[in-house]
Amino acid sequence: MLVRIGMGSCGIAAGADVVWKTVEQEFKDYPEVVLQRTGCIGMCYFEPIVDIILTEDLIFTYGGVNEDKIKEIINHHLNCQEPLEKYLLASKDFLTKQNRIALRNSGIIDPENIDQYIEKGGYEALKKCLFDLKPEEVIEEVKISGLRGRGGAGFPTWRKWEATRQEKSDKKFVICNADEGDPGAFMDRSILESDPHALLEGMIIAGYAIGADTGIIYVRAEYPLAVKRLEIAISQAEKKGFLGSNIWGSNFSFSIQLKQGAGAFVCGEETALIASVEGERGMPRLKPPFPSQKGLWGMPTNINNVETLANIPWIIRNGGMAFAALGTETSKGTKVFALAGKVKRGGLVEIPMGMTLREIIFDIGGGIRDDKKIKAVQLGGPSGGCIPEELLDTPVDYESITCTGAIMGSGGMIVLDETTCMVDIARFFLDFTQKESCGKCVPCRIGTKRMLEILERICEGKGVKEDIELLESLALEIKSASLCGLGQSAPNPVLTTIKYFRHEYESHIEDKK
Ligand code: SF4
Repeated sequence: MLVRIGMGSCGIAAGADVVWKTVEQEFKDYPEVVLQRTGCIGMCYFEPIVDIILTEDLIFTYGGVNEDKIKEIINHHLNCQEPLEKYLLASKDFLTKQNRIALRNSGIIDPENIDQYIEKGGYEALKKCLFDLKPEEVIEEVKISGLRGRGGAGFPTWRKWEATRQEKSDKKFVICNADEGDPGAFMDRSILESDPHALLEGMIIAGYAIGADTGIIYVRAEYPLAVKRLEIAISQAEKKGFLGSNIWGSNFSFSIQLKQGAGAFVCGEETALIASVEGERGMPRLKPPFPSQKGLWGMPTNINNVETLANIPWIIRNGGMAFAALGTETSKGTKVFALAGKVKRGGLVEIPMGMTLREIIFDIGGGIRDDKKIKAVQLGGPSGGCIPEELLDTPVDYESITCTGAIMGSGGMIVLDETTCMVDIARFFLDFTQKESCGKCVPCRIGTKRMLEILERICEGKGVKEDIELLESLALEIKSASLCGLGQSAPNPVLTTIKYFRHEYESHIEDKK
């Protein structure tokens, strides 16, 4: 018997540590029972989760487990071949409607055991690159896949790789942007905690393709478990010879270092991130030159986010065509979302591009908690926007989401029910971006402050009729005149809530409440 316990941050926060100790104690006289730690399977709503695996086909998933429940479950399994129905996972819809590529190993393997990653085909893609493919052919495969950056902007990954590859330099870098900072987003953290080797392998392949010998993972210090598992993974990969000099006797060498960020949202912007790695204050600078031309320490640097890089080994192993077969004409493959808010089954989902918002929220997420009505979905974090209920049949692809006024972003998806005040939501997100503005340019530093003051007085019942137009004109000024993406997108939640929920602003002003 194999007993698998979800030990991602979500599981541990729900009490998985206690469950682990109880299982250890209960099975101490059963040496044939193997206990295995995993990361997050994505069903955060069901944590702590325990899988009791009798055979490959006999897997029983229990959730919401605590010390007493797990004792009852174990006792039942020791005395009976049948599962204990009352704690079993009732519906598999959450998982079966997904298509897991970036999350292929999450919740299945032990993230602290490199052998389990290798058993799942891990590092095969690297081997294929080093011995069967020229760097240009690796980039071609990524081009065929149609993979676009999953950090938010959706820029074609192969173009970034090609641009960095073409730069002449003795030294180049690959940086993984793991500075996930959107409220409600936890895609990157979960991948780092659950399958760190997928990221490492993706980075090594990127290094091979562009001609870099050094990788840096910029991860926020608020993710201690992710940092710990990355450190373990890097050390294991070095010992196995996947990292280091002349990997497997080839003439390709690659090392990876961790750099912990202090949690500034703006450091997710590429040039601010580079400044932070260099020990400077994390502030964006004008582009060009782009990081691919002049990045870290002035050297050509390729920056991709966690999900983008975690897809790479799968694409190389299965071929770019397999990835491109999923999704839509312009948005290929899958996308991971952190489904949160007033949804029944919140967690991490990976869906083929093109699935509608309604399918994600209702078919996978199970609908709205307490059987309330949905009002909107906030997509793309503080840079994104609110999409109303009547647009829930919008397919999830870069272009369709942009048409609504929101953005795909890195994958934060917060479901809002009928009780939510949309003006308050706009105020919440603007308060976040206002505090995170680095202050370098006036439209963002001062403009967001003025917008926030207006929103606060509207919420306090002190708004005047002209405030809505003032908000709109300020928003457009800030979008057009700010230096970086933070300022350019900060007004989005305000603009989309005015666009779709103007009546809520008006009623705050008319009712003076
Ligand atoms: Fe800083 Fe905002 Fe200007 Fe970006 S737009 S550089 S965050 S002040």
